[in-house]
Amino acid sequence: MTSNPTDPRLATVDDVAIILGLKQGTTPFTSTKVMISEVDRLRVMVQDCLPPLSAIPAPDLCIFLAEFSAKYLSASVDAYINRCLLPVPNPSAMVQSELFNGYFLMISASSDSPYFGKYFGSHHPSAANGKKLATVVARRLLRFTMHIDKGAAKSSNSNFWLDKEAPEAIMKALRVMAMILSALPEDEGRLSPQMKNALAPYIRRWSKPRQDPSLREICRQLSQLLNPSSVPQRRGVRNLLRGWDGCGLPGCNEKANLKICARCRTVCYCCPEHQKAHWTGPSPHKKLCFETIY
Ligand SMILES: [Zn+2]
Ligand SMILES: [Zn+2]
Repeated sequence: MTSNPTDPRLATVDDVAIILGLKQGTTPFTSTKVMISEVDRLRVMVQDCLPPLSAIPAPDLCIFLAEFSAKYLSASVDAYINRCLLPVPNPSAMVQSELFNGYFLMISASSDSPYFGKYFGSHHPSAANGKKLATVVARRLLRFTMHIDKGAAKSSNSNFWLDKEAPEAIMKALRVMAMILSALPEDEGRLSPQMKNALAPYIRRWSKPRQDPSLREICRQLSQLLNPSSVPQRRGVRNLLRGWDGCGLPGCNEKANLKICARCRTVCYCCPEHQKAHWTGPSPHKKLCFETIY
């Protein structure tokens, strides 16, 4: 058993990995609960792990998500793609949990970390499933929205999921797709023309003025990313996502002749002095610097 160095009551990265089945072991966050389904696992994640996480001050949350994505992002993506789900109570919950589950929650939470950019930009075999993820999310999102449209979902008893979780799931799925498409190398992991055509009417629907403004904004970003003419602008976005857009020492704006941190490859410096100054100091890089397999 491990304990969070910030506060022993909070979940550690390894606790979350144990709940998701990505690591063997026991954790205080599941010891009193019986894991009966994917829905329960997601509830444990949301109710017992993520609110304590959101109580963590931002710099510590940043460290938590950096460590999680360095250690478990690749395993989370693999498990998501291979549908490593526990049983779910009914077909509607199944359709939803294929799209929105504990793996997805952590992939989504990791998307602001530079390790997310590193993983999706990587050509290492352990990152190979990352190239399929945008398509898998798109396919599951389509299946889920069509299921709701058919009204099949309404007749089941999963109102909690449909009323409270469905709009959030759609929004998170679209946001993750946009982040993945921004982070991928130009010619890899794109959506097929057929998939784009299938998504287009939904993106139009979610872009209508009566929709939530953040949903409309995500749809606008996604439409741009799906448009091939935006490709030349993407190198800058990719570098930003990977932490390669400028010297990592706060206050230094140098953008030229940067050298990458050899250990994590998620930060760059203009000179060895700035690398040394950032390693310790007010928001030290040593807490965010992890080796990865990808
Ligand atoms: Zn510098
Ligand atoms: Zn580093």
